[in-house]
Amino acid sequence: MVGGVVTSVAAGDPDGFRRRLDAVRERIAACTDRPEEVTIVAVTKGFDVSAVELAASAGLRDVGENYAEEMVAKATLAGACPVNWHYLGAIQRNKIPRLVPHVDCWQSVSRHVEGQAIARRSPGARVLVQVDTLDREDRGGCPVRDVPELVSRLADEDLDVAGLMTVGPPGPPELGRPGFAAVAYLADRLDLAVRSMGMSDDFEVAVQEGSTMVRLGRVLFGDRPSPAGPGRDGAAP
Ligand SMILES: *Cc1c(COP(=O)(O)O)cnc(C)c1O
Repeated sequence: MVGGVVTSVAAGDPDGFRRRLDAVRERIAACTDRPEEVTIVAVTKGFDVSAVELAASAGLRDVGENYAEEMVAKATLAGACPVNWHYLGAIQRNKIPRLVPHVDCWQSVSRHVEGQAIARRSPGARVLVQVDTLDREDRGGCPVRDVPELVSRLADEDLDVAGLMTVGPPGPPELGRPGFAAVAYLADRLDLAVRSMGMSDDFEVAVQEGSTMVRLGRVLFGDRPSPAGPGRDGAAP
């Protein structure tokens, strides 16, 4: 399907999927007193639509994608699945019109112009502000010091700013802890309920630091066949 890199995974193995999901839930429960407040977003990028169906049939209600065309294709095919679609990728303004009919939550708004472009096509849309906790401009995200102003300007655009999102650094999970703590603190101060932090390799540290939303691909579905194959249209994951 899209870009020729999407592979059928776990489709034939719902029991294996449920086992992995249960294991993830146990690991989350070991990190917080309120595991029921941690939403799992199943990140299906790189896998075909059967991954979405698998997640939905196991009771997950949120799926995430990074690449516009891949999301549109899967959301169209999985139209009957009762899931919310989270867009996690770089926001390219020319892709917004195609995405609008499918996206329930824009997780990676880093700049005011991106929010404006979303608001124009989708008034009242639910967004998260991506926070750059790594000080690496290549990875996207708003610098910590600019987050309060961006949140208020996005709210002025009539967007539903539900929370903050961040991506931890590569390397040992502990390296992400200070950034996760900073994002949780900032979300508290700004009275934002959602803290989307933690991926397969670092979700436990993120939950310990107050994540309310983990975005999990590999730990649920196995390794992606080709993380950055040809034909993709987004930024690097
Ligand atoms: C790919 C991706 C994920 C999921 O990554 P895994 O390591 O497979 O869990 C989560 N968040 C973002 C922003 C991603 O790009």
